[in-house]
Amino acid sequence: MSPARPDAVLLAWDPELHDRWAGGHRTAAEAAAVRGRALGYWPVGRRRNLAPGTEAWFLIRGTRPGIIGHGATMAMPAVDETGQWFVTVTADALLPAGDQLPLEQVLRETGWQQPPPSGAAVQAADVAVLRRLWQAHLPFRLLPDPLLAVPGSRPPAALRHAAVDRWEHDPELRRLCLGYHGTGCAACGFSFEATYGPLAGGYIQVHRLDPGEGAPDPVSGLVPLCPNCHAVAHLARPDALSPAELRRLIAEHGHLPGQTLDDGQLAAREFAGRLLQADGEAAP
Ligand SMILES: [Zn+2]
Ligand SMILES: [Zn+2]
Repeated sequence: MSPARPDAVLLAWDPELHDRWAGGHRTAAEAAAVRGRALGYWPVGRRRNLAPGTEAWFLIRGTRPGIIGHGATMAMPAVDETGQWFVTVTADALLPAGDQLPLEQVLRETGWQQPPPSGAAVQAADVAVLRRLWQAHLPFRLLPDPLLAVPGSRPPAALRHAAVDRWEHDPELRRLCLGYHGTGCAACGFSFEATYGPLAGGYIQVHRLDPGEGAPDPVSGLVPLCPNCHAVAHLARPDALSPAELRRLIAEHGHLPGQTLDDGQLAAREFAGRLLQADGEAAP
């Protein structure tokens, strides 16, 4: 008799022996960061009763073992030409090698005596522990929008997929854009670090200036915007507002009639006004 179908499984591999990812781990980690999806192909041994969509936690073995990704199975396991049973998986998060959540921390928090073998079922209580550890571990640079859940941190049934501009969420373009423009909002000057301190230091959203098909230039095609300005930019249809147009709105409407402005609001208005002047001088 086969054991009950698990809701979650642990899939492990030793990168020195195999690479389970389509295109290799490095490419797959980038694909997961940009598109939230990377494909892998996993031997399942005797574990042949996996339903499609079974939650999967990926464990890298070797000298620095740890949980390095999260995803799901995509189909029922099938036999390949060598007679081995395999399952196709998709990762919604896959960290670069070296960034894994250390296994010793997982063992300590779950109480596991040793890492389970690949294909082992993960019990609901242990899945809850993994979600909590993973949520705390995944660096926010991989999650440009903190409103989106960390993949694996919530039960799949609690989430739905959000459609986002992939280039605004591309980690490498983001790095280049912020390296040039800095992390202050290009429309209102808001700085997360100045307002909230080191916890939020470096956080800002990235906005694509003209919506095209291919990758934008990270310097001329992307700008940092705070979440307020970014949301308002995208309220305009069909084209989003430019930072200059946002500044004009702030300068015209930056306060409600009769409302007293606090120092931050005054500073934002003054900043917007200065930038508007700068725009005017720069215009031909
Ligand atoms: Zn702003
Ligand atoms: Zn945008």
